[in-house]
Amino acid sequence: MTVETIRHWHIGDVDVARIVEVNAYEDDISMLLKDETPEFVKQHAWLRPHFATAAGQMIISFQAFVLRSRGKHVMIDTCIGRDRQREYDVFCNLKTSFLEDLAVAGFPPDSISAVLCTHLHFDHVGWNTQLVNGHWVPTFPQARYLFGQQEFDHWVHLRNTGGYHNFEHLRDAIDPVVAAGLVDYITPDYQVTDEVSLFPTPGHTPGHVSVLIRSRGEEAVITGDLIHHPIQLTEPLRHGNFDMDKVQAALTRQAFVERFGNAKVLVIGSHFPDPTGGWIVRHGRGWKFVTE
Ligand SMILES: [Zn+2]
Repeated sequence: MTVETIRHWHIGDVDVARIVEVNAYEDDISMLLKDETPEFVKQHAWLRPHFATAAGQMIISFQAFVLRSRGKHVMIDTCIGRDRQREYDVFCNLKTSFLEDLAVAGFPPDSISAVLCTHLHFDHVGWNTQLVNGHWVPTFPQARYLFGQQEFDHWVHLRNTGGYHNFEHLRDAIDPVVAAGLVDYITPDYQVTDEVSLFPTPGHTPGHVSVLIRSRGEEAVITGDLIHHPIQLTEPLRHGNFDMDKVQAALTRQAFVERFGNAKVLVIGSHFPDPTGGWIVRHGRGWKFVTE
């Protein structure tokens, strides 16, 4: 069903594919930016048609990426997953063709050698596991799961101290891969291959990382959730509702924009709807996202 939403990018020798689970979901901007209105969205005409509706709703997607580098197949985040009970209806009891789409994209599930989670929110860890005969089991039992040590420790701490409202996703998407001994706990500067490395982008969560791809003089970056929607480029320092440490997240976003803005670096936004990849360029006192 979702095969038509597969997209590929080639960064030198690295093939990156996008697998969409929830496509082009329209929501109020106030979900992301406190007290903000559709009028604010409408002011930024460059957001249309890809990232905003004419009525001023933001458009976001929930999607995973998978890449091939030096013979390794690496998942970057694993979306929401099927059969989940989550806070919002849109995420509950999904029945998508995610695993079939992976195969169609050239990455059959049993070919995945590593699963990296940029952070451990429920919409980035779901397909870590699947429900088989009433039990949550690792979807990629032949893979190593790469979790940031600091990120993992943080969630364990929150669970132990009751510091967060909902741990259902730890139980069904994290605990089973830990119990299976499949996890490698990594540092935020981890090198996946000589072409693919991580760098720390804390704030959204404490151990959040982004993914840098460099091959044959070409460069791309997969953001993770340091930014959720291109409208945040207009004021990178503005606080976002979803960030655990809003001050740190804003500083990280600003540093990211200064590093990758006006540069020949393809920016792939983890929640940006199609075309998802583009370039950050100066626009007035802020920045904007251009896709061609
Ligand atoms: Zn997310």
